[in-house]
Amino acid sequence: MGAKKALNFDANASLGLSEELRSELTPYIDSYLNPSSIHSGGQAARTLIEKARAQLAELLGLNDDYRIIFTSGATEANNQAINSSFWQHLGGGITGRSRAGFEIVSSATEHPSVLEPILRLERLGIRTYLVYPGAEQTLQPEQVLKACSPDTKLVSFMLANNETGTISPIAEVCKAVKEFNPRTVFHCDAVQALGKIEVNYSNLNVDMLTFSAHKIGGLTGVGALVVKKELDVNGLLLGGAQELRFRAGTENVLGIVSFGLAARHLISRQAKNIENMLIQRNFLHGYFKEKLGHVGIRFNLSPQSLPNTLSLHVPGILADDLVVALDLEGVLISSGAACASGKPLPSHVLIAMGQSEKEARQTIRISLGPDLLSTEVEFAAGRIVTCINRMMQRGTN
Ligand code: PMP
Repeated sequence: MGAKKALNFDANASLGLSEELRSELTPYIDSYLNPSSIHSGGQAARTLIEKARAQLAELLGLNDDYRIIFTSGATEANNQAINSSFWQHLGGGITGRSRAGFEIVSSATEHPSVLEPILRLERLGIRTYLVYPGAEQTLQPEQVLKACSPDTKLVSFMLANNETGTISPIAEVCKAVKEFNPRTVFHCDAVQALGKIEVNYSNLNVDMLTFSAHKIGGLTGVGALVVKKELDVNGLLLGGAQELRFRAGTENVLGIVSFGLAARHLISRQAKNIENMLIQRNFLHGYFKEKLGHVGIRFNLSPQSLPNTLSLHVPGILADDLVVALDLEGVLISSGAACASGKPLPSHVLIAMGQSEKEARQTIRISLGPDLLSTEVEFAAGRIVTCINRMMQRGTN
């Protein structure tokens, strides 16, 4: 104890629990039982879950056409969205109907929790088309339509990319896909957009949306799949009747409560948060341009991007080495996506954008939370520049 807390510049990986949320959450730690129990202890827990559902629905701007299914995280929600659509196509029995007539369109820059379930279906013989959004990464409706056929039953595109922060025009892409074929199911991984851009999620008009609590300041291990009520959804986990049978298993009550509380905070603070993050991000952008121009840094920053994310190519330096060096200085950043760190593979997102493996391994991601103070951002900026200069001199790579 007593050690200075490291500064989180890796908010896209996890925002962490604020002091405020921590103290609001603490009383709930031992005040709940199984929400399926009919006694008062169970019903108290059930009430907490329903309150959190209402808080999240309010933040998302959901109308009555949508329902929220709480899951163990965005990874589960994405897996359910992809697999459920295929199972619906099979009509309830693997032998019931043919796999033919089911094609998927998605993008090469999706999160692995979308790509991997799609690739598994591909190995089972399902036709899959991955769009490459290119250097700027912003998806275009025409690009998506080129990949669609009358057999496209599912499309899945993220709203904002976790590594570069690029935002895609999902409402327009969805409109184009639905005009082409109204029966195509549209899924959107909106994990990184929540709290960072203002969106009325009903207005996107997509069929399914994925969210994660820990990206907005809730606990890890809880997420949500939002689905249009008119859509038939298969459970990924089968068992009890929880979540209207859409997701079996005793609910993570504390996690769900934290999701609701984090949503409630965002309802009143989102605009201010966005403004703050943008100011800080713009400061970092300008500072690095000025102080690191001589080493030939390059930003992966498209015009439509999250206000908190800065992806930076630093030639000559291995991103993983820089992450470790900065960790020792008390500044937490990331090399690509957290889920990819520790794996020997370079970022699939940067490769899909046309960068080389070497460039991808030399790219860091800085992602800001809404509560960082200017002094903290200035401190981190200084440490980052110092570390880069020091490593350049030593010639680490
Ligand atoms: N989708 C995106 C875009 C993400 O950034 C993440 C987290 N890195 C996930 C899905 C998975 O979220 P979770 O940690 O809740 O499983």
